[in-house]
Amino acid sequence: MKKYALIILVYVFLINCYSINIEYKSTNEKDVLFPTVLNGLDYFSLNEIKNKLQTTNHYIDFPNGKVTFTLNNESIIVYTNTHLISLRGQTANLSYPIVSKNNDFYLPETFFSKVLTSHFPEKYVWEADTKTFSTEKQKDKRVKTIVIDPGHGGKDPGAVGKKAYEKNVVLEVAKKLKTQLEKEFDDIKVILTRNNDVFVPLHDRTTIANSNKADLFISLHCNAIKHKNVKGIEVYYLAPARTVEARDVAAFENSVVEAYEGGLEALNAYNDLQYILADLLQSEQLEESSDLSIRLQTELVNKTRAYDRGVKQADFLVLRGASMPAVLLELGFMSNEEEEKKLTDPKHQADQVAAIVNGIKSFKLKYDYLW
Ligand SMILES: [Zn+2]
Repeated sequence: MKKYALIILVYVFLINCYSINIEYKSTNEKDVLFPTVLNGLDYFSLNEIKNKLQTTNHYIDFPNGKVTFTLNNESIIVYTNTHLISLRGQTANLSYPIVSKNNDFYLPETFFSKVLTSHFPEKYVWEADTKTFSTEKQKDKRVKTIVIDPGHGGKDPGAVGKKAYEKNVVLEVAKKLKTQLEKEFDDIKVILTRNNDVFVPLHDRTTIANSNKADLFISLHCNAIKHKNVKGIEVYYLAPARTVEARDVAAFENSVVEAYEGGLEALNAYNDLQYILADLLQSEQLEESSDLSIRLQTELVNKTRAYDRGVKQADFLVLRGASMPAVLLELGFMSNEEEEKKLTDPKHQADQVAAIVNGIKSFKLKYDYLW
């Protein structure tokens, strides 16, 4: 026993002496980089630095020993066998040579204590006593879990056409979308907020997305309007409405709450402080939500040749509180005879599904790559 205790003690001592703690401020996660001792000095493997700091674009130019990688959208160039590193057009001296060994590159501690902290003081902090290098961990934006939300259901039919109900059309599309997404990607999980004809309160739909730590929330709907000739596709993300039409569409989708969730009282619950805070959550995702909306709208219009009503913003209660990029698709007008027919046509549904899959694919490619 004594022997083990001694080994542990020595081990703890070694960790404290010869490591750099990387502390991720936002998550409280602590990570440790262990050095390799080369020529009596502490060095840190570039491969490990890349893992821990989530850098991208590792590029090696072998003949001249130049290694380029990207950190915080800035290119960093490391010159092997010299003391030099280039960042933001400036050359910094690391005081010790950069070593190339075993298909990896080793940087001296000064890379953390001098270069990163002086170039990114707002992002990285160095504490000399504890050899702790603090950073904010980048938010993982990779698309791994997608929640598809077929609107309405059960007692709430949604928009009603001559023959079809919105609730049935969007459930059909959602199921096909899940099948197709799972077929095309082996690294994503798809969850539906409802699998059959049941009513799900709006609030529960985002709760499903949040509790499953979803990376995307896609709510599927169909429009209806008094003017029977109006048609086309539009994609929304959550932000104050800019036009009367957008406000009307949101008002129609939001009317579910008063009609089916318990009158004004239920509606008021959506407007209390909790939901104002929830709005802030969604506003953090504004850029990604708008990006996803544009990709989906473009693919849908190209594939189905539907009338392009554009990407819009409005205050949809169902998008509130989602802590991930969230969009709402209006796939067509139940009030337009021609579109109602299309919306229930399996071939048209397959085209819409293919278009949505393509939109998700290009979005996923971008954010998976950034990581
Ligand atoms: Zn709807």
